[in-house]
Amino acid sequence: MLKIYNTLTQSKETFQSIHSGQIGFYVCGVTVYDYCHIGHARTYTSADVMVRYLRARGWQVRYVRNITDIDDKIIKRAAEKNEACVTLTDRFTKAMHDDFDALFLTPPDDEPRATDYIPQMIQLIQTLLEKEHAYQASNGDIYFDVRRFPQYGALSHHDLSQLESGIRVEVADVKRDPLDFVLWKSEKPGEPFFESPFGRGRPGWHIECSAMSMSLLGNHFDIHAGGRDLIFPHHENEIAQSECCSNETFANTWVHVGFLQMDKEKMSKSLGNTVTIRDVLQRHTPEVVRYFLLASHYRSPLVYTEDVLHQAKQALTRLYTALRFLPDATRLENSIFEKQFQEAMDDDFNVPVALSVLFELSHELQRVRHQDLQLAASHGALLKYLAAMLGLLQIEPEVFFQFDSGEDLEEIESLIAARNLARLNKKWAKADEIRDQLLAMGIAIEDQAAGTSWRRN
Ligand code: AMP
Ligand code: ZN
Repeated sequence: MLKIYNTLTQSKETFQSIHSGQIGFYVCGVTVYDYCHIGHARTYTSADVMVRYLRARGWQVRYVRNITDIDDKIIKRAAEKNEACVTLTDRFTKAMHDDFDALFLTPPDDEPRATDYIPQMIQLIQTLLEKEHAYQASNGDIYFDVRRFPQYGALSHHDLSQLESGIRVEVADVKRDPLDFVLWKSEKPGEPFFESPFGRGRPGWHIECSAMSMSLLGNHFDIHAGGRDLIFPHHENEIAQSECCSNETFANTWVHVGFLQMDKEKMSKSLGNTVTIRDVLQRHTPEVVRYFLLASHYRSPLVYTEDVLHQAKQALTRLYTALRFLPDATRLENSIFEKQFQEAMDDDFNVPVALSVLFELSHELQRVRHQDLQLAASHGALLKYLAAMLGLLQIEPEVFFQFDSGEDLEEIESLIAARNLARLNKKWAKADEIRDQLLAMGIAIEDQAAGTSWRRN
């Protein structure tokens, strides 16, 4: 039985889908005004593994990840760059796709852009106005009336008075209550706007996600995910406005990913302490980055350091070493390792424990290799099968060992060719000399029936 930690109830709950065999899964997407950083990668790699695992467990998952392409930060950045908002957001949407593809993130089934859902947002706001859950203020902006939704604060586990004491009251505030949040901002000079029955303007951020998720997954769906920072106010507001519109529960399970931190601070564009995905991919292969992001539990914070990335590489090196030089085989059936892997993943997607099972499996593979190569190969096939649920170990081991070979690749290959020629001509001293030369370069070689392979020490 799969258990997932639900922020709403602060407990691990046995997961049951609303419709048998099907899951609606929504994760809040990127606000596309800059390159994605490695903190984004953490949230989306975690969501990716959840979706992969739910699918592997037999559910048909509809995975929705939106694009926020209208927002204050976008408007500000476009003005600074003297660029149209749409040119800016198109550019960074493309960059995001390139980065996410590089990290082998499963593409969402739907990737709605906020600006394509303005009519649906207007419809929601109209319903909220009719039901008196929203009001138009003197400046033309429309606000959600938080006091009329008594469950407000349930997700972040605060009551209204606690929340109120933490909020900054704006001077000349036009809101009835400081907690009220904007649904529609009336037109400002020089800013993009949309026509609406309540005047020209643009949507607030929170209503965007309600409109996109409900349009694609229905009023009531299974799993809503995002980074921890979104619990309050974004997700709290999504619940309030969606449930007041539909009179139905919005999302059943709320999943939040811990921050990726730089030292003690959250990595974020607004703090200016970001390392972009493309920066990291200059120095590490995508699989090493994925491993780094997944090796601690998705709810714990993760500190970004080059050291931890190097450890990720070493861990993958051990797993790929086990997979080397194995003949083709079908995967081992009814293995205890498969059972343990599933138990770990069923326990709130406990990837660190699942990875430790993969290491045990790789040890077993190495243990049996010398007695029964075919059995070792079946263990190898199982290892690859299970690792696929994490998006790992899907390339040929030899490719992994040569990936980051850098500028000395040609030299290594030509030394190996020269050594093989020397061995062919039985010039053993020459062959040993070349082996030593490679060792001095930090390259270990292994001679197998199929040929010579190498790896960096
Ligand atoms: P944004 O583009 O800033 O709206 O963020 C998009 C998604 O990435 C949201 O779900 C955020 O919670 C998540 N996110 C942003 N920064 C981090 C971080 N440092 N660690 C983990 N998730 C993050
Ligand atoms: Zn959202």
